[in-house]
Amino acid sequence: MATIMTALAGGVGLLALMTLAYGTVLYRLSDRPWLRQICLGLMFGAGGVAAMLQSVPVVPGVYLDVKAVPVALAAPFGGMLTALLAAAIVATGRIAVGGAGMLPGVTGILLAGGIGFLIAWLTPAAEWRGARPLFLLAPIASLHTLSIFVLPWGVALPTFIHGGLPVALFTVVGILMLGTMLARERRRVDTERVLRDAALSDPLTGLANRRAFFGAIDREVAGALRQHTPVSLLLLDIDHFKEVNDARGHDAGDAVLVALSRVLQRGVRQSDLVARFGGEEFAILLPCTALEGAFLLAERLRCAVRDCGVEHDGALLRVTVSIGVSTLAPNSDRPDTLIKAADIALYRAKSDGRDRVCRDRALCPPEPVPVA
Ligand code: GH3
Ligand code: MG
Ligand code: MG
Repeated sequence: MATIMTALAGGVGLLALMTLAYGTVLYRLSDRPWLRQICLGLMFGAGGVAAMLQSVPVVPGVYLDVKAVPVALAAPFGGMLTALLAAAIVATGRIAVGGAGMLPGVTGILLAGGIGFLIAWLTPAAEWRGARPLFLLAPIASLHTLSIFVLPWGVALPTFIHGGLPVALFTVVGILMLGTMLARERRRVDTERVLRDAALSDPLTGLANRRAFFGAIDREVAGALRQHTPVSLLLLDIDHFKEVNDARGHDAGDAVLVALSRVLQRGVRQSDLVARFGGEEFAILLPCTALEGAFLLAERLRCAVRDCGVEHDGALLRVTVSIGVSTLAPNSDRPDTLIKAADIALYRAKSDGRDRVCRDRALCPPEPVPVA
């Protein structure tokens, strides 16, 4: 009995290591649900196989372990595909080990997986943020030990009394322990994601904020220099925006900012980054785009903004924008040079009369010399 207790305790400790891998997979694959479910399925399956490696033989061919713990937790903490994969992996491992206990072993795995899936399906997802559903799952999943009774009664009864009961107990403890850690890890990853999104996005428009923009421009410029591809930048400023605020109020100004950010986002490719650079200034980073293409896009955006009216409190508000365009020069490796050039071009667009696009003069063809 002491050997069984020690080995099973080691098994539960091993399962606890899965928490680390769980958090990493959730964090890294948060926006790729299928791949995440597959990785979690492999992870829960590997956890079950690792628990099997710590099994205790009670009679020849019959082993006791806590492999049912990750199998039962796979559905609530991974999803249906995760549960299927985990059960398939652990069941295959059990079949590979063979012996007299193979049939009850595989039956127990399928039972634990099925119970986990059923309880996950019946319990609202939000409940799994806490430990409450685990108190239902743990005792019910431990019933998988009854699968030993697929063996002849004479073998099953003593095996159940000497091994089945400790396994049931450790399954309950394992599910409560690992389940609590997984729930806590999931809450931690969710909180981290919310904080990261809040740190990188503008609360009014939902666009990337200045911090996200600077991170992106550093990455894009480094990548462009490595791969010898162009990068362009548009800096866009609303014309006479103060007048909108003064005449219609701050709420109207906010509504214009939100509407404008939608127009900009709709007008660019998915690989482009639209960011709120400052109060009524926006930056649009255009990877793999040369000056000509950037200029054409800027003209298109300028017209789209001018033609779009914003309904607010029964009034139709219209604004125009001035845009400065710059492209990474072949001899420059600094993101701030790109920003400065776009800023100078924007300043020129303002001083030339607004509602226009100007490009970085250093990259423009020389002005034609007037003929006398
Ligand atoms: P210009 O054509 O020269 O750009 O004139 P402008 O009035 O747009 O420029 P100015 O920089 O004088 O004014 C910018 C205004 O933008 C002032 C400020 O109140 C407003 N603003 C900045 N951030 C926000 C915001 O989040 N909401 C609202 N409603 N207004 C904002
Ligand atoms: Mg401004
Ligand atoms: Mg302005």
